[in-house]
Amino acid sequence: MFDALTDRLSSVFDRLSGRGVLSEKDIDEALKEVRTALLDADVALPVVRDFIARAREQASGEAVIRSVRPADQVVKITYDGLVEMLGGEGAEGLNLSLNPPTVILMAGLQGSGKTTTAAKLALRLSRERKKVLLASLDTRRPAAMEQLATLAVQAGVDSLPIVAGQSAPDIARRALSSARLQGFDVVILDTAGRTTLDEAMMAEAAEIAAIGQPHETLLVADSLTGQDAVRTARAFHERLPLTGLVLTRADGDGRGGAALSMRAVTGLPIKFLGVSEKIDGLDVFDAARVAGRILG
Ligand code: GDP
Repeated sequence: MFDALTDRLSSVFDRLSGRGVLSEKDIDEALKEVRTALLDADVALPVVRDFIARAREQASGEAVIRSVRPADQVVKITYDGLVEMLGGEGAEGLNLSLNPPTVILMAGLQGSGKTTTAAKLALRLSRERKKVLLASLDTRRPAAMEQLATLAVQAGVDSLPIVAGQSAPDIARRALSSARLQGFDVVILDTAGRTTLDEAMMAEAAEIAAIGQPHETLLVADSLTGQDAVRTARAFHERLPLTGLVLTRADGDGRGGAALSMRAVTGLPIKFLGVSEKIDGLDVFDAARVAGRILG
């Protein structure tokens, strides 16, 4: 997803290290090129500004210029800046309740990969020996309910039996009581999406959140939709107590920079990356690993 950015940055740093001795002006120019590369990759402007201001501060003075390999120092400063921008060292993981069942609510636009991600999470948790119940609350799209039931079979976990005619809040209540009665460790509620940001969708998700009191409320966003994904995250965060983000289609070849801004713009941790259509295509998000990959 970050190939173009990786190419740009490596050419900046290659030129820099080809020079050997560096002046403050060389470093400043390199940081300017980093700035342009980030903006061209679609990283949000205020995020880039902060990033560059911090990098300049760290690169200023004699320490970097006088170091044995100043270009490496600039790479290190860029790497540290990227890690910071992506939420810092250490993976976040899921917050599981000590009193099962843990309730996880999935929100997001239709087509973002929400249902697939619900099943991917279920598989990951079941591999951690958790007993997982998947429940679709998408009463407007029976196909979505069936899709989740099919994915549950693939993941080898249970799904809540579909009962026609029930409202989303009623399904949520039924899922919670089944989970309690049947000793599930985790219940994943897949809320209905819409193709655009829509008041009815938000209101319904907020109502489900009030009923389910989720331990995790995850927004699933398609990283290939660029700044739209950032806007979507913001809009959802205004209405729902989100606890984290899942960015899907990290395997796509878009510019990817919007995903890099998500953490800084929304203040929410990125918890997972969707990396393929397959049911095991979900990676725990690790800022250091992603920053390392971006720098090639
Ligand atoms: P929903 O409408 O948000 O529930 O979206 P779906 O879960 O039905 O996903 C829409 C399409 O995106 C499906 O074809 C998924 O297989 C695909 N998809 C979901 N996540 C990923 C991902 O991380 N990478 C890729 N390549 N495809 C994905």
